[in-house]
Amino acid sequence: MIDYQTAREIVLEQTRSFGHETVPLSDAMGRVLAGPVAADRDYPPFNRSTMDGYALRLEDLGNGSGDFSVIGTVYAGNSAKRELARGETYRIMTGAPVPKSAGLVIRREDVEENADWIRIKEIPDKGSGHRSWKPFLNIAIQGEDLRAGQMVLGRGTVCTPSTVGLLATLGQQQVTVEKFPKVAIITTGDEVVELGSVVGASQIRNSNRWLLQSLFKGRGGDVALADHARDDPGQLGEMVERVKEFDLVALTGGVSAGDADHTPAVLESAGIKKLFHKMAIRPGKPTWCGVMPGGGMVFGLPGNPFSCLVNFILLIRPWIESCQGQVISAPIGLPLGFAKKKLTPLDEFFPVVLRGTPGTLQQVPLNGSGDIRLASGAGYLALHAAGNGDLPVDSQVLCYPMD
Ligand code: AMP
Ligand code: MG
Repeated sequence: MIDYQTAREIVLEQTRSFGHETVPLSDAMGRVLAGPVAADRDYPPFNRSTMDGYALRLEDLGNGSGDFSVIGTVYAGNSAKRELARGETYRIMTGAPVPKSAGLVIRREDVEENADWIRIKEIPDKGSGHRSWKPFLNIAIQGEDLRAGQMVLGRGTVCTPSTVGLLATLGQQQVTVEKFPKVAIITTGDEVVELGSVVGASQIRNSNRWLLQSLFKGRGGDVALADHARDDPGQLGEMVERVKEFDLVALTGGVSAGDADHTPAVLESAGIKKLFHKMAIRPGKPTWCGVMPGGGMVFGLPGNPFSCLVNFILLIRPWIESCQGQVISAPIGLPLGFAKKKLTPLDEFFPVVLRGTPGTLQQVPLNGSGDIRLASGAGYLALHAAGNGDLPVDSQVLCYPMD
């Protein structure tokens, strides 16, 4: 039996690209950029006023106060008709271009406003007697955020709401993103019934299909095929044949040692090359992993819902991230807010949520891997490492983000 880090390495050796595609910006959320994106012009594109106020020549301010005649108003989207001469000012609005001759913008609150002239209020500094007006006060200088041509977003960037906002600013109506793998979900089990069907006393509803589908959708992907097989090697074998050209097959149930656990034998006789079977973790131990003749990956996951989720986080997610050129979600060390007993010699994973100031990890209730609540509300999957004994409060534990 291998440890989960070794399993991850084996999975990551199978990294391959699914190609690129161009999508409208409206569909970019959650997708991964396939190449770098550069600034199309300077940002800000002009010296921009960051306040509603008055644009003035620095050299006219003398001892820091004085009277100025207002020669017009510059609104956002407009520009000044001419440069300022001595003793003149423009009323200027937030977002408007500041004329080149103006060295600063003084806030409305700091002047006495009259019909066509203003007086700068004397607001003495603590020590010096006069307020020292600084060059470029309340002005965002052209190019101070980004220079034209400067690389802004790299390959492998995941499109978050902020990224999409930035891409819109940069004029990217279409974005080239990594293609998502063609995914199949196969669930198994005689006791498992589809949502919407009558569920008998000894039956359970198929939650794994929905769990896995949401995990893929949550990463901007989709599922090309989702089907269910009874605990019948013939039926399962036929289903596996149908998905052999897919990039990723997530199959749940039937991977352990029960009499109805046919998955490993069916996968091997379908010509799928086994990479490993079983990892020294809890939950999620019986996982089977292999690679199809076309290069697609097959993950035979335990049927217990939480085990399925753990395996997605530890194996499937990093594989997708690696294939898409992303930085692989790394674990972070966080302090445990409770004491935890070691129950097995395995790497134990448990769900936690970070709460409080300073933040500590709190327990999320989970009654074993079959708990249908799936630790919802947990922010991290924490590791109680095989080499550790009982963990006292405040122990640092490695935490993998849940999403
Ligand atoms: P197995 O891995 O097939 O031995 O299943 C382990 C446990 O997970 C059993 O209690 C199954 O009933 C349950 N299970 C298997 N498949 C699913 C599924 N698709 N949705 C929810 N629970 C499942
Ligand atoms: Mg089963």
